[in-house]
Amino acid sequence: MIQDGEATRARIYADVMAASGGGQAPLARDWLLNYTIDGERLPLVDSQGRGIRNVDGWAHTLSITRVERGRYPNRESEPGLWTYPYSVRRDGTIDPSNKKLSQSVRDGVPALYFYKPVRNVYLAIGSVLPIDDFVNRREFVVSLLDGDQLIGGSSSVIERAWASTVVDRRLHQPRFRAIVMAAYESSCSICGLPEATLLDAAHIRGDKDPNGQPVVENGLALCSIHHRAYDNKYVGIDEDLRLHVRPDVLEVSDGPVWEHALQRLPGQTLAVVPRRRNDRPDPYRLGLTFKEFLDAVPR
Ligand SMILES: [Zn+2]
Repeated sequence: MIQDGEATRARIYADVMAASGGGQAPLARDWLLNYTIDGERLPLVDSQGRGIRNVDGWAHTLSITRVERGRYPNRESEPGLWTYPYSVRRDGTIDPSNKKLSQSVRDGVPALYFYKPVRNVYLAIGSVLPIDDFVNRREFVVSLLDGDQLIGGSSSVIERAWASTVVDRRLHQPRFRAIVMAAYESSCSICGLPEATLLDAAHIRGDKDPNGQPVVENGLALCSIHHRAYDNKYVGIDEDLRLHVRPDVLEVSDGPVWEHALQRLPGQTLAVVPRRRNDRPDPYRLGLTFKEFLDAVPR
């Protein structure tokens, strides 16, 4: 049986980060359940769906998985400092799986941290150090690690700004991309191109805008061309999801890409919209950006 230890955990961490493109690409549950090390299968998440993954014979928890739509709100008191609720059984008693995580707190042993924004999508956020165990509140507090350094709980303003940047890159951006790709089934919403590697999760309102939250209704899955075209106001999308193209762009006669990618769009509506009504683009936000498109039209 594979033995626990710093070296083993470092190898697992490296494998997870390599497989997920540094945490930017989601991992499938099958990959995590069928992970092998030294020829031995070692599931990295709990096969019964528990949030805590403990390995028989190991004293400390291997990984924890945070689910977005769980029973417990996902609290972040400071960037990179997260609460993690105790696993509780159906009858309300505390699940024994928490014991090894308590031991991790006492001994200062990091765990892998996965975030699951939607079904079968696991984001590898990195390593966390479980730093507190609040028995009365039935929750742990974990801090994201960057190498050996704690990200959460920074004392100075500068450190907090840095922590916020790290958390954006490691958690918020991959999470936004994952929820948008899931909602649009990895297809460009303007042209339908079904190829995730050529797609971006675009914001309808940019992240500096007061309405620019990283929520699915502020997102669109767009191929690289349509993302640039939308951001640069070559293409507009109105509140009724109709497509518009800047008049001068319609007059360019310079080959088939112009024609197929842009000039055929007026009169059409979005090719792909999410099945779930709540996931669809927010008409208010579309309207704000559409007004900017109209204002940008050269006169
Ligand atoms: Zn496209």
